[in-house]
Amino acid sequence: MKHLILPIFTSLLLSIGLLSGQNTSTTIEGLLFTDGSPVVITMEGGEIIRIASLPTDAVLPKVFIAPGLIDIQINGYMGVDFTGDELSLEAIRAATKALWKEGVTSFLPTIITNTHERLKHNFAQLAQAMEDPEIGKSIPGFHLEGPYISPISGFRGAHLEKHIRPPVWTEFMEYQQAAKNGIKLVTLAPEMEGAIPFIRQLVAKDITVALGHHNGSASTIREAVYAGASLATHLGNGCANMINRHHNPLWPQLSEDQLSISLIVDGFHLTPEEVRSFHKAKGTKKTILISDALDLAGLEPGEYIRGERKVVLTPNVIKFPAENVLAGAASPIRLGVGNMMRFTQCSLQEAIEMASTQAAEILNLKHLGEIKAGKRADLILFTIENGEVNIHKTIVAGEVVYSRK
Ligand SMILES: [Zn+2]
Repeated sequence: MKHLILPIFTSLLLSIGLLSGQNTSTTIEGLLFTDGSPVVITMEGGEIIRIASLPTDAVLPKVFIAPGLIDIQINGYMGVDFTGDELSLEAIRAATKALWKEGVTSFLPTIITNTHERLKHNFAQLAQAMEDPEIGKSIPGFHLEGPYISPISGFRGAHLEKHIRPPVWTEFMEYQQAAKNGIKLVTLAPEMEGAIPFIRQLVAKDITVALGHHNGSASTIREAVYAGASLATHLGNGCANMINRHHNPLWPQLSEDQLSISLIVDGFHLTPEEVRSFHKAKGTKKTILISDALDLAGLEPGEYIRGERKVVLTPNVIKFPAENVLAGAASPIRLGVGNMMRFTQCSLQEAIEMASTQAAEILNLKHLGEIKAGKRADLILFTIENGEVNIHKTIVAGEVVYSRK
């Protein structure tokens, strides 16, 4: 009798979730981002296990529900610079929590051109963050933008010329080792000496290769694509202001079907017409929204000193006040979602896919970017007011990490 009761008792406890710890199921309701239909999503063990329609007599939710946003290019946030000399685990935690408020459930901290020592040191810091029990789930990897980019003014953008260099595999592997294999995306210039075999080596290690800050010719870009490059980083930026109307890097990257594009759709870095044309050429499936935000993003608007220069942070962009020119991006990608809909007349579903699903796809993050049974329960609840996405709740792996008061 004793032997019989115990298993029955245990299975009863399991079925009501008392012994299963994290595996207790929870539900969340919202209007599905694809068609606005009211749904209830059941989550268990950090995953989505079921999506069901709400009963017709249920009270309708007032918020949309969508997969969490994924930002594959972000240089820093809330005063934390991922390439800065003061990067620490505590600082990365603060930046991650601030990004949760903006609906970003996963992001690739992006380290840009700097000294060998700085890159190694900061990737080691990021590797700690990736393993951190509190924020690690939101950091699926890192983006290295540079130092293997064009040294030419205009194309190199804000990257420091003195640290730009041609790619060397052994050097890169030192970064990858410091990063505990966390580097998932590399942006480089295909015309740099040795870049094409370097691309092949990266792709063989399952690292996504993006072309950016470059002045590659049509034939070089084609070679890079044959070698496995699959993305054009912030198309239309990282490019000189004056370019040849026939022979420039834009046309071949737009015409090459194998290349997806990432775009800074903050309303400052590209005109609405550029965004619309680029999106028409590539379509939703090949377009990814990025913030490319600098460390000042998320802070109070006002004047700041960056490097040795005075910059002004407005709510959505950073400028050099003396010349009134752009100094960097500051809009989280939730703002890009609303801008994309306004600039291209795409649907909410398409805009969200460009800010989540396509990002997961290009990096082969199979557990992210969709609302589907078996995917990780990374979700956002939001409203759209005056064309702007406003986040109400952010869920990472089934846990509410941000809730608007
Ligand atoms: Zn860049």
